[in-house]
Amino acid sequence: MSERDIPQLLTPVTPSTSDEPVENIIVSVSTTFFPGAEHAHVPGFPDFIIVSSDSVHFYVHVDKLLDASKNGFNSLLPLRPEDQKDGMELVLKLPETSSVLNIILHTIYTISCAHYSPTVDVIVEAVNSFPKYGIPVGTYVALWTPLYQLILSVAPYSAIEMYALAASHDLYDLAVPISSHLLGFPLSSITDDLATRIGPVYLKRLVFLYLNRMRALKQLLLCPPRPHEATEKCDTLEQKKLTRAWALGAANLVWDARPDLSASSIISVLSFLTDGLTCTLCHDSLQARIRELVVQWSDVKASNEVWSLVLACLLQQSNHTTHTYRAFTVSNIIYTPHHYLHHHHCRQQQRYPTTNLLPPQLRKRL
Ligand SMILES: [Zn+2]
Repeated sequence: MSERDIPQLLTPVTPSTSDEPVENIIVSVSTTFFPGAEHAHVPGFPDFIIVSSDSVHFYVHVDKLLDASKNGFNSLLPLRPEDQKDGMELVLKLPETSSVLNIILHTIYTISCAHYSPTVDVIVEAVNSFPKYGIPVGTYVALWTPLYQLILSVAPYSAIEMYALAASHDLYDLAVPISSHLLGFPLSSITDDLATRIGPVYLKRLVFLYLNRMRALKQLLLCPPRPHEATEKCDTLEQKKLTRAWALGAANLVWDARPDLSASSIISVLSFLTDGLTCTLCHDSLQARIRELVVQWSDVKASNEVWSLVLACLLQQSNHTTHTYRAFTVSNIIYTPHHYLHHHHCRQQQRYPTTNLLPPQLRKRL
């Protein structure tokens, strides 16, 4: 939390009833959790203060924190009456910094703290401290909660850290959309520490995401330009030159390709094949196949984004959500979403009857 967000309040450090002169010091108070703050769906005014390691005061409700916690907020609440000194308010000092506590408390109150722009390290530390305070991570970082959206908003520029965070808490709904930002991430740069944090299951899923997309690319490239009818200048034998050239170009493309291979890379590599072509029909066929390939590959690349929407819709279905979700997981579709699209295009959606649960606009998009 930046200093500008924290009002500086004058607070007596000795009881005002004392005969001694009152000495005033400046204390920092949260702009969200201040004395007299009112929060939606939280009755009454704050009844105790949490003080961070950097001495920022958060005025909060004991009932709200106890409702959120499964372990009495690390067995620290409720505070004992003897902790209350004459004329002073109940105070709980915690070892976390104000930035970390800011996220924890905003999350408990279901308020977005995105406007504080917390750093990635602070977000990670805050979420990792949830278990200590008995706050169920799966509940408070569930789909569409403020913290879920905050983590997604930083994922584009810190994808592997956010993926590791989601993986370490088994936040599947979060890990899937984050993984779409990891297609350009070199897996070889994953350190032992990072692999440990991600864990074997989510690491395997990430590797399979890469492998499946590369396999999809190779399958697309296996299909050469369509031959045209034999002419005087270009018979079947002559057209095999283009097929061979395509195979070489495809091999060249796959050699350095990553799962986030761009359309411009495909076009620049394969367009060179037109150089040796004298037949107009072969030339047109090659250009048509390149255009088709670019569209097919963009479908594969977009499938992660689409799949995120599918998941969101499925999870919003009230009754058969868990069953549906697991069915897709067992089918290994979740990490090979292009298969899902492929099957859909092949009109085999009866294999996945849950497609019918999707809203019409998404079905149309798929
Ligand atoms: Zn030809």
